[in-house]
Amino acid sequence: MSDLDTRPPELALRSLDTGAPEELLLTARRVYLGKATEVARALPDRSIRMIGAWCFLDHYGPEDVADGPGMRVWAHPHTGLQTVSWLLAGEIEHRDSLGSQARVRPGELNVMTAGRGIVHSELSPPDKPPVMHGLQLWVALPEADRDGPPRFETFTDLPPLSLPGARGQVLVGAVDGVTSPAQGRTPLCAADVVLDAGADVTLRVDPDFEHGVFVAEGAVQVEGTATAVDQLLYLGTGRRQVRLRSAGGGRVLLLGGQPFEEEVVMWWNFLGRSHAEVAAYREAWERREDRFPPVVERGERVMEAPPMPTVPLKPRPRRRVLP
Ligand code: MN
Repeated sequence: MSDLDTRPPELALRSLDTGAPEELLLTARRVYLGKATEVARALPDRSIRMIGAWCFLDHYGPEDVADGPGMRVWAHPHTGLQTVSWLLAGEIEHRDSLGSQARVRPGELNVMTAGRGIVHSELSPPDKPPVMHGLQLWVALPEADRDGPPRFETFTDLPPLSLPGARGQVLVGAVDGVTSPAQGRTPLCAADVVLDAGADVTLRVDPDFEHGVFVAEGAVQVEGTATAVDQLLYLGTGRRQVRLRSAGGGRVLLLGGQPFEEEVVMWWNFLGRSHAEVAAYREAWERREDRFPPVVERGERVMEAPPMPTVPLKPRPRRRVLP
């Protein structure tokens, strides 16, 4: 996925001054990735830019791609972050400058660590299933790891979550006592939870983490707030559990992490710490410097970076300070 957001959304604020744990209802905005794919972007939000180190959340589909090209995200670079690809339906082909060629499939987690630099493409394969539905997330790498070596990993053995009326998988870290083989570079968690009609479940979570629940299907009562598809309920820190209820059934992504205290500059597909650093990444991509080697199959298209904004990019904290 690729980021170039110029229109941050409005948000609804709830229970900020009551002393109760926070519940902020955020609504994803629609963003076009090239011509073919429209996504709902929930992070970064105008107010809540990150949940732990989770700094980007795109939801695409469900979309009938039987007669169309499907996903066409041509080769593009990343720095300073990890991409986490999670498919709910369909299949995507991932290729990168390490030589990785992977099929991204439902139930399997793909984690690409950009570190100092990587290039990848995400394309629907010619034999794609008719429905495409998925989530793409980015994780900000901390100072100690952000210039490290690039890496691509597939986790096919994610542990199941099993509760009365709900089931799912733990993608990253630990949720409700179930631990994934995939771990963050800062303390982090994520779980995909499918709720039956009439479900009422409570997940145990780490009170040191801030959490959020994104709805990918159906309608879900998250703690005290009714939440619909493409909404993200931000839950703040200090919770030991998260209650999910659904009358008609639904599917959510629970995200959490230790608040990420480094201020970052996020622009296009780069994550850095200053305007000058991001401008240098852009320049290196333009010149196809060694930081950004070509993907494994040549001849495919490449995404060019947009011009740098005329106003300097400022490092930003994880959330906007409200008046
Ligand atoms: Mn990407």
